[in-house]
Amino acid sequence: MISYGRQSIDEDDIKAVVETLKSDWLTTGPKVSEFEEAIADYVGAGHAVAVSSGTAALHCAMFALGIEQGDEVIVPSMTFAASANCVTYCGGKPVFADVDSETLLINHSSIKEKINGRTRAIIAVDYAGQPCDYDGLRKISDESNLKLVADGCHALGAEYKGRRVGSLADMTVFSFHPVKHIATGEGGMIVTDNSEYAERMRLFRNHGINSDFRQREQQGSWHYEMVDLGYNYRLTDIQSALGISQLRKLPGFLEIRRKIAAQYDEYFARVSVVEPLKVNDNVQHAYHLYVVKIDFTSLKINRTELFKTMREKGVGVNVHYIPVHLHPYYRKTCSTSKGMCPVAEKVYEQILSLPIHPEVSQKDVDKVVSVLLESIK
Ligand SMILES: *Cc1c(COP(=O)(O)O)cnc(C)c1O
Repeated sequence: MISYGRQSIDEDDIKAVVETLKSDWLTTGPKVSEFEEAIADYVGAGHAVAVSSGTAALHCAMFALGIEQGDEVIVPSMTFAASANCVTYCGGKPVFADVDSETLLINHSSIKEKINGRTRAIIAVDYAGQPCDYDGLRKISDESNLKLVADGCHALGAEYKGRRVGSLADMTVFSFHPVKHIATGEGGMIVTDNSEYAERMRLFRNHGINSDFRQREQQGSWHYEMVDLGYNYRLTDIQSALGISQLRKLPGFLEIRRKIAAQYDEYFARVSVVEPLKVNDNVQHAYHLYVVKIDFTSLKINRTELFKTMREKGVGVNVHYIPVHLHPYYRKTCSTSKGMCPVAEKVYEQILSLPIHPEVSQKDVDKVVSVLLESIK
């Protein structure tokens, strides 16, 4: 099966992990700080805070903003549920905005319609790896005194007007899950230029305690204070060593992803029923996903059948995502329902994610395309 996404691990990665296993620190040691500095440098941010997952990173970001009961945060509906769940974790309410049909990025007029006196922040999702229109989002945020958080889990290495994702919002969140650009098993990071946010998130990832074990060792003291209610969201040194090694290969990974996308684009330029998502002029896409929209109304096959047929033929397609406001949990707790984000709902019926990752070969791309075209004939 050609999977839609997967990690790419080589001998250097394995060596880095093994070396850490033989070192003094398995967690919260020198590799964590080294990985944080490497990511901060790469994206052009002042601070980076490593945590145990992208989801934990989102939770940290909401904690740093002080989101609590009574607060609303605007989130696009076309995303992974975690983008919204982080608001709920803090007692706030995610308010779902619709997306643009051509890019599936958050729609600005929909944001404006949802802003009210309780709105505190916007979480923008760089869907599939294409950065949102950050100038536009910054303007909307500033006008209403909102914070702007980027869920950049799809977009490590992407650029908007020559600036990397990670330097465009008040805080940006990344994931190092194996299907993302670089893998640490599980892992995540928040980057920000705001030192107060960084400080709060360092507390939050470590139970709300104001020093870590290594600092106390260095100071020769056992004393610590728990000043807030935090969690154990720490990333290990083992994972960080893998992350550092993977980050070295990110430019090459991005190049392969962009090449695969260009090959798909070229094929689909000749097929009217298969429409790749639009890519804006002023961005460098990171292609976490390669998503096409298929007009099934003119076809004999529906999406469920196409999904099954392609998988049976060894092509691991996927669907990203079921609009979050349609999940039973949010219908129950936030009274969301069908009709609230009509574009996301309609596009959801048409989308399919095709395999794209560093281990996908030119031959694989040819196979994916021929299986797809054969199946919809
Ligand atoms: C992967 C992902 C997350 C969650 O990351 P984990 O590391 O799996 O917790 C959040 N938001 C988006 C958009 C993602 O793709």
